[in-house]
Amino acid sequence: MANIVAIVGRPNVGKSTLFNRLIEKKQAIMDDQPGVTRDRHYGFGHWTDKYFTVIDTGGYVTGSADQFEGEIRKQVKTAMEEASVIVFMVDSHVGMTDLDKEFANVVRETNKPVVVVANKADNLEYQMMANEFYALGITDEIFPISANSGSGTGDLLDHIISHF
Ligand code: GDP
Ligand code: MG
Repeated sequence: MANIVAIVGRPNVGKSTLFNRLIEKKQAIMDDQPGVTRDRHYGFGHWTDKYFTVIDTGGYVTGSADQFEGEIRKQVKTAMEEASVIVFMVDSHVGMTDLDKEFANVVRETNKPVVVVANKADNLEYQMMANEFYALGITDEIFPISANSGSGTGDLLDHIISHF
């Protein structure tokens, strides 16, 4: 089976930043503007001798919790169906939001491997804040990373490829 990694999570957590880092090429369109719906983006990356496809699930409407049912849910489910590993990204600057919990409920429905990534863990303080997301109860391990600087992404990739 193909190695396919889907990055899911609410808007602005840093999915496209990680996508760009994993594929080492600017293929995803950075989307700082709310209200823009985009299709999924596909890129290719590798770590050691493992090659994989990455899906960036793109920007979603405005990201309010009541818009979750419908479009967002559909997009996440489609990405999860395609993927062999699901990266569920949250934001350690903002902390837990209602929308994170909504995403978590959809992510929980898969029986594929899920990796919870707490992005924007740029320093020790934010790395500590990542621990808040253990309350989601999805995985035994949460990976604090900084998609901007790349810190933590080596450990994350080691873990992702262990599922291939
Ligand atoms: P997406 O909506 O989930 O795809 O998020 P983006 O990748 O577009 O990033 C949203 C914002 O978060 C942008 O302004 C990024 O520069 C910022 N961002 C992404 N990764 C990091 C990070 O590791 N640390 C910090 N401080 N900001 C980040
Ligand atoms: Mg994006």
